[in-house]
Formats: sequence, C-alpha cells, structure tokens
Amino acid sequence: MDFGLSSEDKLFVESVKSFAEKVIAPRWVEIDERKWPIEEVAAKLGEAGLLGMTLSSKYGGQEATFLQAALAVEELAYADPSLATPVYVLLETAWPYIVQRHGRDEAKEEVLPEVVAGRAFVGIGSTEPQGGSDVASFQTKAVKEGGLWKLYGEKNMVTGVSTILNLPYGGGVVAITRTGRLEDRHKGITVFLALLKRRGRVTPGFTHRDWDEIGRHGLSTGYLTLDGLPVEDVFMLGELNGGFKIAMEGFNLARTIIGAASIGATRWLLDRGLEWIKQRVVFGKPIASYQSISFKFAELYARLEAARLAVYRAAWVADRFYSGDTAFTIHDVATAGATAKYLSVSLAVEAALEVMKWFGGASYFKETNIARALLGILSYYVGAEGAENILKLIIARNIIGREFV
Ligand SMILES: Cc1cc2nc3c(=O)[nH]c(=O)nc-3n(C[C@H](O)[C@H](O)[C@H](O)COP(=O)(O)OP(=O)(O)OC[C@H]3O[C@@H](n4cnc5c(N)ncnc54)[C@H](O)[C@@H]3O)c2cc1C
Repeated sequence: MDFGLSSEDKLFVESVKSFAEKVIAPRWVEIDERKWPIEEVAAKLGEAGLLGMTLSSKYGGQEATFLQAALAVEELAYADPSLATPVYVLLETAWPYIVQRHGRDEAKEEVLPEVVAGRAFVGIGSTEPQGGSDVASFQTKAVKEGGLWKLYGEKNMVTGVSTILNLPYGGGVVAITRTGRLEDRHKGITVFLALLKRRGRVTPGFTHRDWDEIGRHGLSTGYLTLDGLPVEDVFMLGELNGGFKIAMEGFNLARTIIGAASIGATRWLLDRGLEWIKQRVVFGKPIASYQSISFKFAELYARLEAARLAVYRAAWVADRFYSGDTAFTIHDVATAGATAKYLSVSLAVEAALEVMKWFGGASYFKETNIARALLGILSYYVGAEGAENILKLIIARNIIGREFV
C-alpha cells in the first residue's frame, strides 16, 4: 500500500493548484456575487483542460483518472469554497463521462468536444417535484411522436440550465424519463441527452425559471418544464428501458467528486480557522491555547484526514472498475462513492459552523466569507446527488443486503 501520489499525479495537482491560485482564488467572491459570469469562468476552465477531464482524447479530453479529477476538484474547491467552480467541473467530470460510456457516436462526436472547450454544459435532469430520492418513481415521459422522442414533465432543481442557454453551443441534461409503465419502476426508465440548446439555437418545447438560492450563487439551479422537448434517437443513452443503471452510474461518480469538493472546502475552512485562532487574543491569550478550541481543531483535522482517504479511495475504486479490473464491481463503486460523500459533506458543514464560532461575531458578516462556504456546502448536505439518508440506504443495502434494507 502506498499513500503517496505518483509523480504524474503530483505534477497534475501542482498545475491545477497553480491555475486555481492565479485565476480562481482571487475572484471567487466575484463568482459568488455573479460579477464574474460562470460561462466566462468555464472558458478559462476549458483552456486549462479541466472540463470533461476524464473523457477520451478523441473528444479533446485528457483521459484523466477519477483520482486526478478528484484531486483537481479538491484544489478548485480550496480556491472557490462557494463551490460554484468545483461543482461546474465535477458535473462535467461525471455526466459527459456517462454520455461517452453509453451514448451513440454521432451524439458524442457533436457534444463532447464542446463540453471540453467550455462551450457546452451537460447537467443532470433527475429530480421531480414529488421528490428526488426515489428515482424509480419518476414520471417525466418520453414518447415517440413522428420519428422523434418528445419529453413531457417537470424536472426540479436542475443545475446549469441558465448556463446552457448562455453558452455558445449550449448543451443539455441527462434526462431520466419514463418509457415504461409507472408500476415497472426502474425497469421502465430511459435516459436521454436532452439538448436544450444545440449549435447556438434554443430547442423548442421547454420553459425554465431559476430558483433564488441561499448560496453557491455562481451556478444557478432551476425548474424545468418539458412540454414536448424533441430528442433524436441518437441522443438516447444505452437501451430503451435500460436507463436506471446508467443514471446510478453517474450519481456514483458525481458523489465521489462531490466528496473531493467538500474536502477542498473543509481544508480552506480549517486553514482560515487556524490563522484566526493563532492570532485572535482574548483574555490575554490566543484562543488556540484554549483546549475547547484546539481539541475541536484536532478533531476536525483528524476527520478531514479520514474523509480525504475515503474520497481518494472511492476515486481509485472507480478507476479500477472502469479500467476493467474484475476485482471490483459497480456495487463497490456505489458504496465507496456514497461513503465519500457521506463522510465529507457532513464534515464540511460541521467545520464551517465551528470555524464561524471561532471567528465570533465577525463571521456573521459577508466580508469574512466563511458563511459563503457554508451556504455552498449546504446544497450537498440537504440533497444534491443524494440526501444523507439515501447515502446511508445505499451503504446499508450494499453491505447488509437488499433483503434486509
Ligand atoms: C443546489 C442544488 C442543486 C441541485 N441540482 C440538481 C441537478 O442538477 N439535477 C437534479 O436532478 N437535481 C438536483 N438537485 C436536487 C437533489 O438531487 C435533490 O434535492 C435530492 O435528490 C433529494 O430530493 P428531494 O430534495 O426532493 O428530497 P426528497 O426525495 O423529498 O427527500 C426528503 C427527505 O426524506 C429523506 N428520505 C427519502 N427517502 C427516504 C428513505 N427511504 N429513508 C429515509 N429517509 C428518506 C431524504 O433523505 C430527505 O432528507 C439539486 C438540489 C440542490 C439543493
């Protein structure tokens, strides 16, 4: 067992870190205040080779491993702890990879190079108004009309729709739709790459409005009404009624990289906290000298070390599975991804709340910026890509057995 990174991985992290420090870190508050539009940030990320990193070089990708993608997202989250930038990158790590793995050549050749260049965004259209956790109960329909698939239904809390509309090519969402009967549950689900804007032209058949988020303002999330959105056959991913497993693959990968984003944000929080507790003098001593503070720091530091290893291992398990190592199954990828997200997101939230206490009243004001990180991280605490109980459900089912849980 080797806990060090390979020389190739070290070089890769150093180059991402240098980009993140120079380009993203000085302007992360501008991103959160929507003064630097995410589409412009995306162009920079594309130039730096950070979009669709895990894609084949055939599409312009870097053929990066998931471990490298996790390391990159961790550094981007350290530079932008509001999480808009790392979330953009993590979504473009997970979902375009799913398109590459399950899509038709024609669709991949058209869309994936645009993603890599930062000219298109591919998001996930999963959650419906009646809930996001029970994917097998989704009701958005795909029906064949006049040679095209037409999508009808409601998708809620979809990240990136405004971005798609603002980017030069556009892009779309991996849409989870029902093509079988509702009672068929997961056996009646098909996924499509549903393009909302293609080659610069907005597709008819949908309306959209953004929610007013409490945080992570740089990357919007909205409500999508599909009213006959047309999708060509070539944009189906996998086979008819075979979409459930494909969607789950995407969630596994996204959760692993969300873990990495949470680790980057936690590192940023603890570094800010460390600087502060050493220099803030109260009752004649730096507050770091009070054990109620130094022990809490030690506890968070130790948990960070553990969660970070869980994230790197989840990425490594995904790399093993996707490189064809038969010692690993998709269940291993799912369990490791759920574990990575479960450990790291709750840690990031607790670290933010604790560091805010160390800053005292100062943390209540935007200038301190600690709360910006907390509000970004909360998106993953309350739901996005699987609420905490759903992560526990996945771990319990895979380890204890579906017959019990
Ligand atoms: C900022 C943000 C961005 C998002 N981006 C996207 C996106 O791009 N695309 C997308 O499709 N969705 C997105 N989402 C939605 C997200 O995926 C959902 O919030 C998530 O799947 C949970 O669904 P829900 O909020 O409807 O909660 P529900 O499914 O209604 O669940 C509510 C609560 O019940 C609990 N629960 C549910 N079932 C069980 C059970 N069996 N046992 C115990 N507890 C249970 C859950 O853990 C949760 O706490 C985003 C959400 C946020 C906040």
